[in-house]
Order: sequence, then structure tokens, then C-alpha cells
Amino acid sequence: MGRRELYLTEMGLGPVWRLRSAPAQAAEGVRGEALGWNELKSRVAACTACELHSTRTRTVFGVGDENADWLFVGEAPGADEDAQGEPFVGQAGKLLDNMLKSIGLKRGENVYIANVLKCRPPGNRNPLPAEVAKCEPYLRRQVELIRPKLIVSLGKFAAQTLLGQDATIASLRGSVHAYQGIPLIVTYHPAYLLRTLPDKAKAWEDLCLAKQTMQDLCSENSATI
Ligand code: SF4
Repeated sequence: MGRRELYLTEMGLGPVWRLRSAPAQAAEGVRGEALGWNELKSRVAACTACELHSTRTRTVFGVGDENADWLFVGEAPGADEDAQGEPFVGQAGKLLDNMLKSIGLKRGENVYIANVLKCRPPGNRNPLPAEVAKCEPYLRRQVELIRPKLIVSLGKFAAQTLLGQDATIASLRGSVHAYQGIPLIVTYHPAYLLRTLPDKAKAWEDLCLAKQTMQDLCSENSATI
């Protein structure tokens, strides 16, 4: 049994939960640079590292409590986000707010929300691997600065990017994974749930798993103080 599996077992998280670490991503950008918040925000705002800079209205850096325990990560800005410069606005944003509320959370209060890509792919097409490789270091640095207790990835692309594996949401759900050593839980993207109402029940299961995992992490922390 590996150290992390042992840790999970000690936390009482159960043997069926698998925790897997994502391999290091090869990417340019801020890799190796310990940028602070202001410098990182400026770097993203001026970024031209991939072609998406030429079609964006504005970059979408992320929003919320910069010391949050919870980090929610989606795929990329859509039209509303591109116009407003904030992640998860519009109908998908309202659903995410309701998902947060269902587990006692509120946008901006102990919660940070970001995307893998900081610029909108034209026509909301899927992100290209080269775009993800260029942009992912920004998210990596955000995670280093926030140091959340738990990450919830929203949708297939966020999960695949953070976990470094080409797997389906269905196969990744129900397990506790890891990104940079931080527990990570996979669920559906709110925009997908708006189109696929039956899967809302599965998303609720994922949120319950996330809430339970956070409670277990907090209990573990208080027990070691
Ligand atoms: Fe830069 Fe990311 Fe925007 Fe590409 S998507 S231009 S890497 S900020």
C-alpha cells in the first residue's frame, strides 16, 4: 500500500476510493516561476502564448477567495465569461451556484473558481492539446497560491488535464484522485448538466462525496493538531 493510500485508509475514506497522482505536465509559461497573485494576473491578462489570444474579448483569470479550502475547475470560458471576464456566469454559472449552495457553499466564500484555459475557444469548441499545454501552468500556479484542501473538477477536459489521463467522466467519478498532492473529485460540467438533466443525480452524488471528503480532511487535520 502506498503512502497516500495508507493516509486515506487512516482517514477512514474506505478501500474502494482510489487516489491517483497526475504526472507532471510539460508546458511553458510560468513553469518554474514563483509568481505572486498580482504578477500572475498581469501575466495572464497580457498572454499571447497561444492563438486564443487573437479571438478573446478578455481573459478570464478566476474568481473567489484566494485562500479558499475549495477549488472548482472548469474547462474554458464561454461567450458570457469572455464578455464579462468572470468564470461560470450565465445559466451554467447559476447552476454551479446552486450546486455550491446544495453543499453549504457560496461563490467567493471559501471557494475559488477557475478554468483550465483563460481564453475562450472560438465557438466554444473543445480546447486543443497545445492550448492546454500553454495555459495549464497558470492554473498550476493558482493552485500553488491558493493551496486548497480539495479540488472539484467540472467536466471531462478539466479532469483529463488535471489528472493527465485520457479517461471518461464515468470512469473517474466516485474516486478521490490527486492533483499536486491535493485530493481531487471529478464531476460533470454544469453546462452539460443543463442539457442532460438525468445526470444531475450523479452530480449530486459527486458533491456528497466531495463534502464528505472535506469533512474527513478537516477531521484529520484537527486530530493532528
Ligand atoms: Fe495565454 Fe492561456 Fe489565453 Fe492561450 S488560453 S493566450 S495560454 S492565457
